[in-house]
Amino acid sequence: MTVYNFCAGPAMLPPEVMKKAQQEFLDWQNLGVSVMEVSHRSAPFLAMVKECEASLRRLMNISDEFEVLFMHGGGRGQFAAVPLNLHLDDAPGIYIENGIWSNGATIEGAKFTNVEGINIRSDKDGFFDIKPVSQWPLPSNASFIHYCPNETIDGIQIFDVPKHPNAPIVADMSSVILSREINVDDFDIIYAGAQKNIGPSGLCIVIVRKALLEREGLPRPSILDYAIEAKLGSMYNTPPTFAWYLAAEVFKHLEATGGVKAMEKHNETKAAILYDYIDKSDFYSNKVAKHCRSLMNVPFWLKDDSLNDAFLKQAEKSGLVALEGHRLVGGMRASIYNAMPIDGIEALVTFMDKFAKEHS
Ligand code: PMP
Repeated sequence: MTVYNFCAGPAMLPPEVMKKAQQEFLDWQNLGVSVMEVSHRSAPFLAMVKECEASLRRLMNISDEFEVLFMHGGGRGQFAAVPLNLHLDDAPGIYIENGIWSNGATIEGAKFTNVEGINIRSDKDGFFDIKPVSQWPLPSNASFIHYCPNETIDGIQIFDVPKHPNAPIVADMSSVILSREINVDDFDIIYAGAQKNIGPSGLCIVIVRKALLEREGLPRPSILDYAIEAKLGSMYNTPPTFAWYLAAEVFKHLEATGGVKAMEKHNETKAAILYDYIDKSDFYSNKVAKHCRSLMNVPFWLKDDSLNDAFLKQAEKSGLVALEGHRLVGGMRASIYNAMPIDGIEALVTFMDKFAKEHS
């Protein structure tokens, strides 16, 4: 039976990449040892990371104005790193809030710097909506503007990018990076924990405008210091080498299969199939306003909550795993990142339809 894994993260990875990693697991590049067993400062590893960065730069069209860092600590590590590196004494960090992860970033940021949270979300009649970017009340004095373009738990996506005349724009792209084309120049920092569209957990990609490395910020651990990591090629200490290697393989695979443009189409098609089905059904519902529905994480609710357990059990028996919604919001959630094939979406919709007919 084919198993489709809808986990929000760590998420499924492209099977082709997993097979290649399996093939070279014990013998990487004919060295007779695994990539996990070589020094991060050895020539083959350094060549791999150089190509990994070049590949990501091609995929996202990242200019020389930016450093690309491969850091530890996942998304939450950056919740601390951003205020520590960008703090200014006389300006608050602005946090746009529209869901659980952006709220989490605000709470962490408040430990280090003055923060101002701006709520852009409304929950009316059981429907979640967000204010368009053009209506966000951004103050003129800000050390940075932090926002989360894709709220993984809430299933809310922001498709436009905020602009500010002088404050850097910082985006937590943990669950949306490489899923659609963006203009990196519209941002000043993009960060993303790897475990959704990039590779295994333990690695976080940080794309940072070089000019920001000049900021003094606050005293901070070297491991969270952008300037130190940039200077040392992201090797201030031993990096998560296996995760880095696998990320390089995912990037290679994405380049070989049409890049981000092709992936964007693929993702739009997948999300459309699932949302169309949910919208037509009176058994399932999604509670997010259509213009801000996530293309990566699709939360949905059964009209009768008491059927949740049966739904999850039967789904699992049909090879559809990890569909349980986040404990904070309940219901179901299908995470349909880059690696999820259209077949997986079709199998899910077929199952949902069958389950609805049997329980209506
Ligand atoms: N930001 C977003 C948008 C996320 O989805 C997550 C994890 N799901 C995080 C931050 C936290 O990431 P990590 O567990 O890697 O710290």
